[in-house]
Amino acid sequence: MNVESIAEFIEKIAPSTLAESWDNVGLLVGDRQADVARVMACLTITPASAREAIDQRADLIVTHHPLPFRPLKRLTSSTSEGGVLLALIAARIAIYSPHTAFDSAAEGINQRLAEGLDLQDVRVLVPAADGVLGSGRWGKLACAVPLAEVVARLKHFLNVSAVQITGALDRPVHVIAVACGSAGEFLTPARALGCDCLVTGEVRFHTALEALATDVSLVLPGHFASERFAVEALAAVLARQFPSVHVWASREDRDPLRWG
Ligand SMILES: [Zn+2]
Repeated sequence: MNVESIAEFIEKIAPSTLAESWDNVGLLVGDRQADVARVMACLTITPASAREAIDQRADLIVTHHPLPFRPLKRLTSSTSEGGVLLALIAARIAIYSPHTAFDSAAEGINQRLAEGLDLQDVRVLVPAADGVLGSGRWGKLACAVPLAEVVARLKHFLNVSAVQITGALDRPVHVIAVACGSAGEFLTPARALGCDCLVTGEVRFHTALEALATDVSLVLPGHFASERFAVEALAAVLARQFPSVHVWASREDRDPLRWG
């Protein structure tokens, strides 16, 4: 197995044509012909998850969030991002990022979130200009339930103990929009489609105020929790597809925020 065979497979499940125009997806670092025996999947490459990849002799990191993301004019150890990239390159570890292509894919993060909440008749929230899928999802519950029930389902599905909420817990929710990560900009299209609730990782304060004022409840499990479950699912998909390759979800890939 080599980098190219795994890159081709991920491209099939998360085609880069689905990525947002500002994004940086695909094989970002590495030799396409290099052999791959060990793959680490993570949400984000940090000094800690990069160290794990090196210590565990990964040949390839599949990271949801791209590294590098912005165009580089120099690659030195004077930034933490540069130091991490240099260390991974020195260890001959390739980097692949599907990011927004995976958010929007047919079996991607938002589709999985929608299914995790038992939404039916799931559709794209913001269709792509070319008509090929698009960002976010929305759908209906079989019957309206109190917001508290949506919160309970989401906490169970994402295995988190707390989420942030706007709106009363007893208000009925029937139509729900989902958009992983930081997707407060989807409040407007969600409202336009008649959604009672938007589930996204995180929003700005003023988006929360707007949601409250316009009667769309927000349920916010945090950026990390809204996406990390799908990294674990992707690791399982890769492990099934490539039985000769050892694939694991990083253990050092953690939410940088915690409750105090
Ligand atoms: Zn994200």
